[in-house]
Amino acid sequence: MVESDPRRIREVFDSQLETALRWRLSTANERIARIKKLRDAMMAQREAFYEAFMQDYRKSPPEVEASEFLPVMDEMRHAIGRVKRWMKPLKVWPTSTMLGTSGWVQYQPRGRVLIIAPWNYPLSLCFGPLVSALAAGNTVIIKPSEMTPAVSALMGRIIGEVFPHAEVALFEGGTATAQALLDLPFDHIFFTGSPAVGKIVMAAAAKHLTSVTLELGGKSPTIVGETADVKLAAETLMWGKFLNGGQTCVAPDHVYVHDSVKDAFMTECRKVIQSRYGTSAHEQKHTADLTRIVNQRHTQRVASLLYDALTRGAAIQTGGEVDVAQCYIAPTLIDRVPTGSQILEEEIFGPILPVIGYSRLDAVIAEINSRPKPLALYIWSKDQKEIDKVLLQTSSGGACINHCVMQFAHGELPFGGVNNSGIGNAHGHYGFKAFSHERAVLRSSPLMLVKLFYPPFSEARRGLIRKIVDMLRLPMI
Ligand code: NAD
Repeated sequence: MVESDPRRIREVFDSQLETALRWRLSTANERIARIKKLRDAMMAQREAFYEAFMQDYRKSPPEVEASEFLPVMDEMRHAIGRVKRWMKPLKVWPTSTMLGTSGWVQYQPRGRVLIIAPWNYPLSLCFGPLVSALAAGNTVIIKPSEMTPAVSALMGRIIGEVFPHAEVALFEGGTATAQALLDLPFDHIFFTGSPAVGKIVMAAAAKHLTSVTLELGGKSPTIVGETADVKLAAETLMWGKFLNGGQTCVAPDHVYVHDSVKDAFMTECRKVIQSRYGTSAHEQKHTADLTRIVNQRHTQRVASLLYDALTRGAAIQTGGEVDVAQCYIAPTLIDRVPTGSQILEEEIFGPILPVIGYSRLDAVIAEINSRPKPLALYIWSKDQKEIDKVLLQTSSGGACINHCVMQFAHGELPFGGVNNSGIGNAHGHYGFKAFSHERAVLRSSPLMLVKLFYPPFSEARRGLIRKIVDMLRLPMI
């Protein structure tokens, strides 16, 4: 892997200052034109992306379409259709002490922004935030992951064709390149990756008091309740778990299944796996529809989680085959996983689902609340009271009822984590706001009460100030 030259990074960063100041004045139409140019250049390389994804981790063209092009195209369409509206100043009503004034929120580009992306959805997680950054009027430097070199190189070529470096640039490389970028005083950093690296990014940003959006990961818990439609739960959960070979930040990590439906759920899951990937171990290993693990090191990591659980007494219910040389792990369900197993502690990020039987929902909720707040939480249930209880008593970045992963795809919903799973939001209007400074503007009025607070304070004026403060006890109309 070749790192980018830090001097060149600095030159490009410096060159973006003039553009960033100019782009403060950019109109919605200019921003739309930039997004359209990017869209057309990306779609012109559709076939080349198929090849790059195949080369990097054998991701099939239909999955590239559904999980890379589709979210980016949706983000582009949304931004093109809405950016004019998003840019409009937001007028606010005066509060009681501000009567007579006018106030509004002005959306300004943050300026020069940095996007650091992971490997698991390399196109979607680079170009998705890029669209929001362009919609908000920023210059951008992107650092894609070093683990998907073919896709990163192709994105670099596209960016180079569409934008001068002084507008948008992409630097390939690993940790050294990321560190060189993090040394610079960007106006905002949008990072997607692991909580461990998120902490490094936030510490680096603190040196310049650069604002951050952190889109992180973690173990997203899943509940299949007593009243769940077990067939639906199996169909949807098996999709969300094995999409992209299980390497999805919002994949269901492990599932708590009510004891009364656990056997039926397992049976349905096995049927779904067989119908999608093949009935024999051989067929499953050779299916074109299961994305491989990104590299041998990660395959080994996921396999170690499996072996640790098995050594401690867990049982394989289906799958279990591992071929590190081929970066392959079969779609696998395990149960009877003992407490303390690593697979229950670390984000799995691979095609293995631990199934945990339960009898008391309160115990499941207590367990979820004893862990870092997850990126997503899923529940399959027909009992509205049970759904409400789970939503009210737990916290997570997002949640989905009777499906999984799809909350990511809804452009009008904020996408982000909470504490350990992230800070801030992406997508649509929320993505635009992540890359904008919300500047508060107040136009003064001769009626403003503030004059009363200027010294000197006569007896009468002191009384009046006390009365004004006391009046704030009255409820708002
Ligand atoms: P990662 O944190 O290892 O790497 C992410 C990026 O950070 C890469 O570009 C990498 O080169 C860079 N990086 C790595 N070490 C660094 C360091 N010491 N200093 C500066 N930069 C460094 O994550 P990953 O393995 O690429 O991706 C998997 C993780 O990302 C999982 O935890 C997953 O849940 C999370 N993720 C989150 C989202 C989301 O939207 N919330 C989406 C996808 C993945």
